[in-house]
Amino acid sequence: MSENWIVVAFQAWFGWKVLPALIVFAILLVLIALFSLPSIIRRARCKHERFHETGACDAICSHCGKNLGFIGAVRAERAKESP
Ligand SMILES: [Zn+2]
Repeated sequence: MSENWIVVAFQAWFGWKVLPALIVFAILLVLIALFSLPSIIRRARCKHERFHETGACDAICSHCGKNLGFIGAVRAERAKESP
């Protein structure tokens, strides 16, 4: 009987120690998802019409900040789209 009590006490301690951490972790994940969702939606809707060049020759969208890739390839792509 005393062994059972120890097991129950250990499980209660384990739950008390681990569950709040898991709940906090889950809440943090939900908060991160909620905060990143608008920018994900904005990037998905963005047509990246305006962009600027970085020192590493990458094209960065001025509106949403997405890295569009090599500036030369992006400019060639835009020139094709609108002659
Ligand atoms: Zn964009």
